[in-house]
Amino acid sequence: MAYWNEEIECMDREKMRELQSERLVKKVKDVYDNVPYYRDLMDKKGVKPEDIKGVDDLHKLPFLSKADLREAYPYGLLARPLSDCVRIHSTSGTTGKRVVAFYTQNDIDMWEDCCARAITAAGGTKDDVCQVCYGYGLFTGGSGLNGGSHKVGCLTLPMSSGNTSRQIQFMRDLNATILCCTPSYAAYIGETLHDMGYTPDDIQLKAGIFGAEPWTEEMRRSIEKSLGIKAYDIYGLTETSGPGVAFECCEQHGMHINEDNFIPEIIDPDTGEVLPEGTKGELVFTSITKEAFPLLRYRTRDICVLTREKCACGRTLIRMAKPMGRSDDMLIIRGVNVFPSQIETVLIEQGYTPNYMIEVDRVNNSDTLDINVEVPEGASEIDTPHREKQLASAIKTILGISPKVHLVPTKSITRSEGKAVRVIDRRKLHD
Ligand code: ADP
Ligand code: ZN
Repeated sequence: MAYWNEEIECMDREKMRELQSERLVKKVKDVYDNVPYYRDLMDKKGVKPEDIKGVDDLHKLPFLSKADLREAYPYGLLARPLSDCVRIHSTSGTTGKRVVAFYTQNDIDMWEDCCARAITAAGGTKDDVCQVCYGYGLFTGGSGLNGGSHKVGCLTLPMSSGNTSRQIQFMRDLNATILCCTPSYAAYIGETLHDMGYTPDDIQLKAGIFGAEPWTEEMRRSIEKSLGIKAYDIYGLTETSGPGVAFECCEQHGMHINEDNFIPEIIDPDTGEVLPEGTKGELVFTSITKEAFPLLRYRTRDICVLTREKCACGRTLIRMAKPMGRSDDMLIIRGVNVFPSQIETVLIEQGYTPNYMIEVDRVNNSDTLDINVEVPEGASEIDTPHREKQLASAIKTILGISPKVHLVPTKSITRSEGKAVRVIDRRKLHD
């Protein structure tokens, strides 16, 4: 079994807790002394740096939310002088105004190190050719994996996203062995490979590191098949530096969180109460090593579960389950909570592609749910009404509400090269 940093990744749990406590105490004092915004939040809650003696005291600290980041935009949460910062990244703005994050050189090193752990866990070594087709630029995906790939010593192909037939040409000509991109783009690359008349035997890929958006287990299997690879999940957000906060190992059973840098908690999104291990709730991170843009108890809005159960890979790092999506991805339709990922699961299980579009509207004071999904290739048109009915009933079984399913022609739904947009909620446009 190969690890990037065995000492940390397989550290005794007690020792890890001590390391976290020591770093947390220092970080809290650092932000209290250097960031007026945090000092105010802590003062308002009546917490002093001296009250935080270790991880057990974490719950005493105030939360930080995306609203705080927007309010403090751009420099309000900086903990180092700008002259010590070497880079800025920004969120993709999926859910509103962008936020910006700052990095010192140490921050970049830490982040790339986390990505190197992910690449190593996916089997990457200096003999690999790593094709990075996450977007480069303000988005963190490209540079994060690029840096990690350099650290591991892979031959790095900084493709960025887009121009899919060129991606495949380079993948073939330069014998790429590891692919890094969003899962929706990986699915598109797989589809294009087949359209170009190739099979997985015509490429050298062995692994893919996919993240930046929610994806289901069914989607994983479908990508693995179309590209002939093992697909690994990777998680992160701009605020916490980027991808690499957590990464999957060969067990493909949850992502190991890089706890030497990030302390996770799961809270009840309504009450803010910390929930016991194994309970589903909102993921909260405290960064204990980041210098320029530290986060204390940052509410990610991602809904998931943590487990400390021993992992067969030997890593002792806590694992997070695949996030179901953000609390703000959740649709409330006729009073029922619906995650797009639940619909995706049914579609792929029933033999459809992950190309779909969910449309929600309100007609005569009642919510409507329409799902457009592409006809499977080679399916007969005569079957369409039957298929639509059957799919609607399978979805109803899972969601408890009836959708209207529309089979649309193959390739008619726009493919994603980055984060896929799969929901149009027209109710928001009426408001
Ligand atoms: P934005 O919030 O604008 O999308 P980011 O690019 O920083 O900005 O995206 C971070 C978010 O992407 C996370 O909070 C999470 O919702 C989602 N995400 C990242 N990686 C994964 C993953 N592996 N699985 C599910 N969701 C993910
Ligand atoms: Zn593991």
